[in-house]
Amino acid sequence: MSDRYAVIGNPIAHSKSPWIHARFARQTGQDLEYGRIEAPLDGFAAAVDEFRAAGARGLNVTVPFKEQARRYSDRVSARAALVVNTLVFQDGVFGDNTDGVGLVRDLSVNLGVELKGRKVLLMGAGGAAQAVVGALLEAGVGRLVIANRTLARAQALAARFPGVTASGYAALDGPVDVAVNATSAGLAGKPPELPQGVLAKGTLAYDMVYGKETAFLAAARASGARGVDGSGMLVEQAAESFFLWRGVRPDTAPVLKELRAG
Ligand code: NAP
Repeated sequence: MSDRYAVIGNPIAHSKSPWIHARFARQTGQDLEYGRIEAPLDGFAAAVDEFRAAGARGLNVTVPFKEQARRYSDRVSARAALVVNTLVFQDGVFGDNTDGVGLVRDLSVNLGVELKGRKVLLMGAGGAAQAVVGALLEAGVGRLVIANRTLARAQALAARFPGVTASGYAALDGPVDVAVNATSAGLAGKPPELPQGVLAKGTLAYDMVYGKETAFLAAARASGARGVDGSGMLVEQAAESFFLWRGVRPDTAPVLKELRAG
């Protein structure tokens, strides 16, 4: 029987992860099957218990279960200290987070953005934002500002990392080199409003939402910035999970190209 994996969330029907992992498995000759599990909102642990009892080897975890996944883990990596998006079922349950490395690889490798010394704005302080702060700092960004609608959440997140500052959106000033939208606001259409001049010619505006021309990207382009959606991060975080499970690193370029081609 093939080794079993899945992505768990609620809702989950939209997830591209099964499509991506099927391509990684074919490309690397790995014998696995990867499905999707929609757990009831109050039934995360029970659904994972059941999947493990059936012999599963690992899970990707998405909204709204990433914090519960951290609590479910017997041990977690440093990069998963706040939220977990990957579970490995081997000697108990190991929790990891591949979103940060996924974002940084997309920015630096796929998009050719130099992060060292750059001024970066991270919009949002939820699970996605929490997952990427450490990786951005490791990539050597010069200045990192976290802005969030609920300022206290941005302050609490910034306080965990030396040198990182928190701000409300209205108080932001000056152009940034990279602006990462890690809010879920883009899905509903209205992005957080930024003061004029924050997004400018020379800014890379990155929306973690994938496969859509969001209002954030449209606003960024109108300001002269370069706008990119989160498809590359999605494929790169999946590749890192695949590597954790299988010890084999898939080639992300053809999968990203096919995903973008729709
Ligand atoms: P989350 O934990 O629910 O956090 C949501 C964030 O969005 C919070 O900071 C929240 O601010 C903010 N927000 C929501 N509505 C807003 C509004 N109308 N105006 C301003 N801010 C608003 O969600 P998450 O897990 O961090 O996910 C965020 C996004 O990232 C989702 O769209 C998700 O699909 C995407 N994502 C993409 C990838 C990828 O691989 N491309 C990976 C992970 C996540 P408050 O704190 O004030 O409520």
